[in-house]
Amino acid sequence: MTVITRFAPSPTGMLHLGGARTALFCYLFSKHMGGQFLLRVEDTDRERSTPEATQAILNGMRWLGLAWDGDVVYQSRNQARHAAVVQQLLDAGKAYRCYASPEELEEMRASAMAAGLSPRYDGRWRDPAPNTPIPDRPPAIRLRAPQTGSTVVNDLIQGRIEVDNSQLDDMVLLRSDGTPTYMLSVVVDDHDMNITHVIRGADHLTNSFRQVQLYQAMGWPIPEFGHIPLIHGNDGQKLSKRHGAMGLDAYRAMGILPMAMRNYLLRLGWGHGDDEIISDAQAIEWFDLSGVGKAPARYDLDKLLYLNSHYMKQLPPDALMQALQPFLAEWKQERFGQPLLPDDLARVQALLPALLQRAQTLVELTEGSDFLLNPHRPTPDEAAAAKLAEANSAGVLSALANRFDQRQPTAAADFESTVKELANDLGKKMPEVAMPLRAALTGRLQSPAVGETCAALGLQRVLERLRAA
Ligand code: GLU
Repeated sequence: MTVITRFAPSPTGMLHLGGARTALFCYLFSKHMGGQFLLRVEDTDRERSTPEATQAILNGMRWLGLAWDGDVVYQSRNQARHAAVVQQLLDAGKAYRCYASPEELEEMRASAMAAGLSPRYDGRWRDPAPNTPIPDRPPAIRLRAPQTGSTVVNDLIQGRIEVDNSQLDDMVLLRSDGTPTYMLSVVVDDHDMNITHVIRGADHLTNSFRQVQLYQAMGWPIPEFGHIPLIHGNDGQKLSKRHGAMGLDAYRAMGILPMAMRNYLLRLGWGHGDDEIISDAQAIEWFDLSGVGKAPARYDLDKLLYLNSHYMKQLPPDALMQALQPFLAEWKQERFGQPLLPDDLARVQALLPALLQRAQTLVELTEGSDFLLNPHRPTPDEAAAAKLAEANSAGVLSALANRFDQRQPTAAADFESTVKELANDLGKKMPEVAMPLRAALTGRLQSPAVGETCAALGLQRVLERLRAA
């Protein structure tokens, strides 16, 4: 049997972390099993679904590197098929027309709640007495669910769960306006797409019992289920914006690399011994639902940042520069109104190892490159301005400019030895010369080593900045 999984998001908002993790787990499981991974956009709810949200999901999946097999399935296009299945159930006596009015349903709900029970339909149209007058309104269609016995889900993550059928009322399959419900659509589509493993968030666990009843009514094979525990914030509550969690697009915008996000999401609820850094190949080799814990995972931004800085350092410089380039281009355009040039890229790349020591994201890496992109001397921050205002700074800087002009250094080591030489000649310690130099070149007191910084800028710019300080 070929394993076929699917990710089935509703396009009602951005792709959030929980959804992205579900997609990743479905993807990895199918790859691990040598199977297929399908994508179905559940856009049946026309009012809440938007084309922008669909785009955000597709972009998020592409960015995360989760390629799906075949074409995207749009659930709304299957509505005729959903209705046809309901007709089959009606014909077989496994579904029935329910004419209960919204007011009657509300009464049922209220009286169940008053009795401390969960709201449920009382089955009044299941077997109406002969000659019951039929109200003049379109009916909803409900499943004639078994009233005795129990329904079992052998969940691959949560274990065996059994629910008494008396707990499950007759669910609506088609609303009175003829639209299919989520419960109906999801089962028909999963069946038609030959899904073998339904892997999704644990918030759907209770839905599976009713879905199993529907499979049984149709006589269809029941897929395996795996319900992944939810993600919690550090206060133990279900993850939300309150905890600083964002849509996938926001992580991308803050300069998280897709491989860091994959590694992070993988470890949210799945483990392989003590391994923290897990490559894509290892993930595919090791991933199994038995490695998914039952307890909710905790969202931890620091861990994501740690992984991101790891992957930034590990990437080959050319690949990192490629990922960084759009951030640099935007920065230069927005701050300095100029397009990014090949020279800018060369300067940043020359300093990359040093810049990487101070950055956890591509945005931080870009901020650290500001002085390399700035066509002018960067405005000093407070600490740098104070350093430049010190009594002997102006003298040191002009002496440095003269010395650089004499020596014409190009390599980092030559700049460095020139600075040392001048410090010696002036009877000063290295930092007394290096700090004003840093402040003049970068506008900050923290930067990569002065030799490297000068070499990346090039003698011409170094002299301009020293003379303008
Ligand atoms: N469309 C549902 C959601 O976004 C998921 C359905 C499923 O996985 O069965 O929550």
